Amino acid sequence: MGIEKIRVSFGSAVKLGLISNKKIDEYPTTCYLMTYIPGKCAANCGFCPQARGSHSSIDKLSRIIWPVFDLKEVLTKLRYLISSDRFERICTQTLKYPKNFDDLVEIISKLKESTSTPISIAIPPMSNEELFQLKSLGVERVGIAFDAATPEIFNKIKGKEINGPYDWNTHYECIKEALKIFSKGFVSTHIIVGLGETQEEIINLIDELNKLEVLPALFAFMPIRGTQLENLERPKIIDFRKIQLARYLLIHNKKSIKDVTFNRKGEIINFNINKRELSNIIDESVAFMTTGCPSCNRPYYTSRPSGPIYNYPRILQESEKKKIFEQLKLFVKL
Ligand code: SF4
Repeated sequence: MGIEKIRVSFGSAVKLGLISNKKIDEYPTTCYLMTYIPGKCAANCGFCPQARGSHSSIDKLSRIIWPVFDLKEVLTKLRYLISSDRFERICTQTLKYPKNFDDLVEIISKLKESTSTPISIAIPPMSNEELFQLKSLGVERVGIAFDAATPEIFNKIKGKEINGPYDWNTHYECIKEALKIFSKGFVSTHIIVGLGETQEEIINLIDELNKLEVLPALFAFMPIRGTQLENLERPKIIDFRKIQLARYLLIHNKKSIKDVTFNRKGEIINFNINKRELSNIIDESVAFMTTGCPSCNRPYYTSRPSGPIYNYPRILQESEKKKIFEQLKLFVKL
């Protein structure tokens, strides 16, 4: 028997009309779906409500609720969305469980029958054959999340030390194989800021991945009640802003790691570029928006709407830019 159910992120479900009488202030530009299983994920990532060892609501991924719907109904809604409401991308998050590849194949095949919207998948490492099959079904982009910035932290938050199934080298190998199959520029990974790494470690990893033409996206750590990391603090907003800016300079502004100065603690203490140029980048505001596949805005995925907003799901308002100028005043010309 085929799949009957699928999870849909709350914002995507409102936009699809699966949930009525709800207004949200920021609509997702990507439709976020997640494989459904009656229990938890077989992995044990310390920050994740879906993890085997978490006591959080099974309906959550990060701070977002993902209600369950009939797959058929979701496909119908996607097929008949009016053009002004169409999503620019569909992304399917895939939990780790024995049948996850088969379920993903079925979901992708059915999505392809219902819509021509580009499809991304966020998956645990899979074999080359499986990656090939997903590519030939029409998946455009693949994300395999490191989450951690170093192998040591990886081990602690999703590997051996937390009884998780993952291993840094296997993730890295799979990312490199995915590059061959999906092409350079079509593979992403996520890094969570605030898991005990230094800013220098994150920027080094971003630089390394960028050279391979893997797209590294950033999240700010968000403690979720019931997860193993529920008592860890959020990163300071100023630290996140510096990392967002450094990432932007490396990936979109052709700057090199030499253009960023770190102190002995691995903290960013200077951007060695023209202060006016830096001010223009802040003014443009793209550096502080959600990163990931094209059209991924994930509204409030790791930030409360009441703020502080770590990743903006849209172009910033003037008052928000002013705040960022204030946060980064040491580095820019005011
Ligand atoms: S593999 Fe994904 S869904 Fe599963 S516990 Fe880790 S982060 Fe959560």
